[in-house]
Amino acid sequence: MTTAPNAGLSTRCIHAGDHLDSRGGIHTPLYNHSTFAFPDTQGVLDVVEGRASGNLYTRYGLNPTIRAVEEKLASIEGGDNAWVFSSGMAAESATFLSFCKTGDHMICIGDVYGGTFELLGSNLPSLGISTTFMLGSELGRLDDVIKDNTRVVFFETPTNPNMEVFDIASISAIARKRGALTVVDNTFATPVNQRPLALGADLVIHSTTKYLGGHSDLTGGAVIGPSKLLEPIWMWRKNLGQMMAPEVAFLLARSLRTLVVRVKAHNTSAAALALRLAEHPRVAQVNFPGLVSHPQHELAKGQMSGFGGMLSFIVRGDAKETAAVVDKLKLFSIAPSLGGVESLVTQPITTTHHGLTPDERARRGIVDGMVRISVGLEDVEDLWADLEHALNP
Ligand SMILES: *Cc1c(COP(=O)(O)O)cnc(C)c1O
Repeated sequence: MTTAPNAGLSTRCIHAGDHLDSRGGIHTPLYNHSTFAFPDTQGVLDVVEGRASGNLYTRYGLNPTIRAVEEKLASIEGGDNAWVFSSGMAAESATFLSFCKTGDHMICIGDVYGGTFELLGSNLPSLGISTTFMLGSELGRLDDVIKDNTRVVFFETPTNPNMEVFDIASISAIARKRGALTVVDNTFATPVNQRPLALGADLVIHSTTKYLGGHSDLTGGAVIGPSKLLEPIWMWRKNLGQMMAPEVAFLLARSLRTLVVRVKAHNTSAAALALRLAEHPRVAQVNFPGLVSHPQHELAKGQMSGFGGMLSFIVRGDAKETAAVVDKLKLFSIAPSLGGVESLVTQPITTTHHGLTPDERARRGIVDGMVRISVGLEDVEDLWADLEHALNP
């Protein structure tokens, strides 16, 4: 279904992209098929040779359930089109491989997901693709760090776990002037709170495993942007075999219908907990872009319409005392993911940033007392009671 171009975000989340069939089901059915039949040879050739659009083979993405969720994602993020993947890391690797060849260079700004750090720091260098990792505090030198062979500038905002916020418009403008693409991982913010393409980014990446899936019951990824940039990524996805399964695409479309109400509720509860944690005597610092005390609060207010459901805080205590706080929590499950209806907690040194050297952690401000929470959709008073009980010895 095509929605009006001026339709609101909730309307697009619910209706955009629906491929309705003749039996009257009110949204796109699950076409769990690996392949599709044609009436004759000419019909196959028309699709294979690109003269006609049609369903062909699921690994190619030519499956109505997959196309439906891709059209919905494109509409929600404001891109021409979208590709879905078997995971967020699949979306990232296909994108980087599409634009970087041996001898090319990338720039990665700020904290990034642990898997991204490994991909850029270990896997891509083995193919002759190098990455310069810059801290947010070094951004003033971006123009000097971009070289003639820099193809991609990549970052998350807000970042994990420091919740640092980067200026999408100004970074994109610098990169564009120097001929590099800006790729933003919008997993933490979601398109409800932040629209990188409208701010000047070239491509947006999601781990749909997180807020877009929203129920901790699927693994997937997506890349959204202009058709011209998506074209080369399609081949890599197809031949690396990174397609999202149709069942997962169906579940993801189900989840996207409630994205706006879910994210707004995550925003509200996280903001309430951030304020209360900031006042707690055992908490030394709270990292949440919605707090006036956040170093990039003004920037966040300008480029985000909500501040998300993620926050981190620093317990006054060592690694063991912090682990004791985490272990006392009952409603927050100890798990290394985020964005679901269930509240989750991690101590970054034990999970997401376990693989970093102590020096690298120190450089990035990831201290032993840091706790990251993904604020779920339980009643906020229950969440606060749980946190307060865990913090009070
Ligand atoms: C989880 C995550 C990823 C990786 O996604 P997977 O679906 O686990 O492959 C990438 N970026 C961010 C910000 C994430 O949180």
